[in-house]
Amino acid sequence: MPELPEVETIRSRLAPGLVGRRFERVEISDPRLTRPVPPEAVADALTGEQVADVRRRGKYLVVVFESGRHLLVHLRMTGNVLHPAPEGREDDPHVRAVVRLDDGSDVVYRDVRRFGTWDLLEPGELDEYFAARRLGVEPLARAFTAASLGRALAGRRAPVKAALLDQRAAAGIGNIYADEALWYARVHPLTPAGDLDEEQVSALREGVRKALKLGIRRQGATLRDYRGVDGSRGRMQEEFRVYGRAGEPCDRCGTPIAKTRIAGRGTWFCPTCQAPD
Ligand SMILES: [Zn+2]
Repeated sequence: MPELPEVETIRSRLAPGLVGRRFERVEISDPRLTRPVPPEAVADALTGEQVADVRRRGKYLVVVFESGRHLLVHLRMTGNVLHPAPEGREDDPHVRAVVRLDDGSDVVYRDVRRFGTWDLLEPGELDEYFAARRLGVEPLARAFTAASLGRALAGRRAPVKAALLDQRAAAGIGNIYADEALWYARVHPLTPAGDLDEEQVSALREGVRKALKLGIRRQGATLRDYRGVDGSRGRMQEEFRVYGRAGEPCDRCGTPIAKTRIAGRGTWFCPTCQAPD
């Protein structure tokens, strides 16, 4: 599932080809993408819109239009945005939407498992949309401090791994980067979030930022479905310290990496470096 680094990689590659362009023709073939709004209604509304910017908030790709509207794209499990359109897309059963730009190129939205969403917001609706989803601060922004993270975790009994996944403490962290961040911070993933001391909170903030920045530098992690805008694979999977590495030696101490389940998600950690307090 694409997390902050994967979505940021898509954003940075997509923006140069999109900003300033007009949506000339929009075809949305999957009603699940836009429900409860009919896909034809969203396609009609998008036609003629001119792109002012392409941003990211958490795991959302945010297309900003000159009109003040926003298109929020969430890739969920297997969504991909491709531009320019790859060869053979006419025969690809997983293409859910195609946007023809005024330079004649096509942006293709592809989604194998069909959990991705497109939400078109009217001017002024953006802040409310994110507030309703209780989206926390951007972990790579200045506002993400040890103090802000400490406040977000204070009093919470949930395991810190679960607290990182629920987007309130910081937006954009998913299963991969949560595990990597906790390894960097030497914090056991089952530690109750509110039990972290000041030093651990500070280490966790650093760990989150380190894991996410590395993910962006490696253009995301490709395990199965994630691809860059040009169809290329990310390389973050080559940098994993714990994720998916059960039984392999810890890069720091040599102890075999262990696996457990937290909040229903596979969780990897080093039982020595991340020993519980
Ligand atoms: Zn270790």
